Formats: sequence, C-alpha cells, structure tokens
Amino acid sequence: MRNALGLMLASVGAAVVIAAVWFWTSSPRADSAVAATVGAAPAERLAATASAKPVPIPEDADVTAVIPAKPPVPPQPKTACANPDALGVSRVVEIDTTGGPGFGFAHFKQLDFLADKEIVLTFDDGPWPVNTPSVLKALADECTKAVFFPIGKHATYHPEILKQVAAAGHSVGAHTWSHANLNSQKMTEQQAKDEIEKGFSAVKLALGAAPSPFFRFPQLQHGAAAMTYLGTRNVAIFSCDVDSFDFRAKDATQIINSVLTKLEKSGKGIILMHDFQRHTAEALPLLLRRLKAGGYKVVQMKAKAPLQTLAEYDDALVKDMKLPVASTRPVNNVVQTVTE
Ligand SMILES: [Zn+2]
Repeated sequence: MRNALGLMLASVGAAVVIAAVWFWTSSPRADSAVAATVGAAPAERLAATASAKPVPIPEDADVTAVIPAKPPVPPQPKTACANPDALGVSRVVEIDTTGGPGFGFAHFKQLDFLADKEIVLTFDDGPWPVNTPSVLKALADECTKAVFFPIGKHATYHPEILKQVAAAGHSVGAHTWSHANLNSQKMTEQQAKDEIEKGFSAVKLALGAAPSPFFRFPQLQHGAAAMTYLGTRNVAIFSCDVDSFDFRAKDATQIINSVLTKLEKSGKGIILMHDFQRHTAEALPLLLRRLKAGGYKVVQMKAKAPLQTLAEYDDALVKDMKLPVASTRPVNNVVQTVTE
C-alpha cells in the first residue's frame, strides 16, 4: 500500500515536471498550432524525459512529503559540438503539415513564426557529388541544421549522398521528380501529381525511410491545381523570404553579399540556396560565420510526422530502376566458356 501511494505521488510529481517542461518550451504565438517550438536540441528533450521518471522509493521511506515545493529544473545539456563558437541551432520547431500550410513570405504570409533575426537554411536540387558533401561539412562545422529539397532523379543517381544528408539530422523533403515547372500551360493535373509523388517516392527509395512532408515547387512556380493536391496530401509548401539567386552568382562572394543584404532588409526568414551549386558550397563556410557575427539565429524545421508515400509510385519506381528481362535462365546456360 505504501508502495502504491509512493508511486502515485511520484507520478503526480512527474506530471508537474512534464507540465512545467511543456509550459517552458511552448510558444505563446498564435500560429503555434502549425509550428510548435519543441526545444533547441533532442538531447534536451531526452534529459527532460529522464528527469520526469518516477524515482523508486525505498521500502522503509516515509512518504508523507514527496512532492517538492518547486519542480526541479531539468538540466539543459547542449548537443555535443566541437566548435564552441558555432552558429548552432537556437530552437527547433515541429511542423504540423495537415492541410498543406505554406511557408516563406515571398508567397505565403499567413504563418509568421520567426522572430526578428531568426533564419531557416534551405537547400534545393541535390544530392550532388562534391557540392552536397561540402555543404554538409560546412553545416556540421557550425553544428547547425537545414531543410533539403532534393530532385527525385538526383536522389536515384546518388542515394548514398542523400543518406548522408538525413544521417546528419537535416530534414529532407522533395522538389519533384525531374524539376518540371508545375505551373506550365502544358502541365496536366495528372502530370503534376506524377512529378510530386514520384519525387517523394524517389527520396524514400534513396533514404530507405519516409521523407518529411515538405515540398518546394521548382522555380517557385506554384501551380494552383498542384497546390490543392498538396493540401489533400498534407504536405507543407516552402517558398522563401530570401532568395539567394546563387545559381546566377559568378562566385562565392556574390552569394554571401546577396544573402546578407537581403536579410538586412527582411530581418529574418527562410533562405533559399542550392546544394547543387558549386559556388554555394564554396560560400557556405564564410556565409555561416557572417550570419553568426550578424546575430542571426538558426531555427530548425522538423515535420511532426513523415509522409506516407503512395505504394503505386514506390512500386513503379522500383520497376523503372530495374529494367525487365524476360529470360530467367541461369548464367551457365546462357554463357559458356568455349576457349580458355
Ligand atoms: Zn530547384
């Protein structure tokens, strides 16, 4: 009985701690239902969970006063980072993608979840040899996180590179199968759906895991029918606040100047870059240092739940990747050594 009472009281204590952690990490902003702050690092959440566990009470303990007057403050260890002056991640937001919310003030002004000086790093068109790994290294050196929007075809060319992106803890969405303009006059609704779904299925095939339900339209060409479709699939749509136009830059310096100048005007926002581009990969180490020096803080966007890709597209893609061969005869019947 005393044990039961002890467990009950310990559970009450745990509930108080959980409520305190929830209160401490919750954002009071109106749009918090879509983008909820979930803490600066997974390690913090783990620590909070660990400290909320009921503490076993010895048999002979007096259990008249086990609820402390104040709930203990959970420890806040930072994720291991070798760089003490890293840009890092200032907070993590979890995105409820139900209904297909839109982000980035260039096109969607409804969800204003970033505070002044807060930025989100995003990279399109990868994965690509040399450039994507260089971008990953620059981000790792600064212990910071981004969102990647790979092209489906590129994911099938270089699945091992896309796996590195996911393994580093970045969010991975999709950017169509072949970078088609989904707002083109020639694009039918079915073709747009195929581009979207095949792109996501290709990312899933490359990763061996479901992608985030995050999508960016190629060239930021938002086709109306495709927008509606993404809403029904509960996929968030990413535009941007700061377009680096890095693909037009003649060198790394131009990209750095372009991003910093535009950020000075907007004060915050989602930055669009391309891990596919060599100059972007070259610019990133110094750009991240300059962002840190400028007082900017990186917000990491994570999906509340992964995307359920459609089985018909997953299956079709696997079939496409393996060209059908009618013959099933064993190799010895087909290939005979006739001279040695
Ligand atoms: Zn693109």
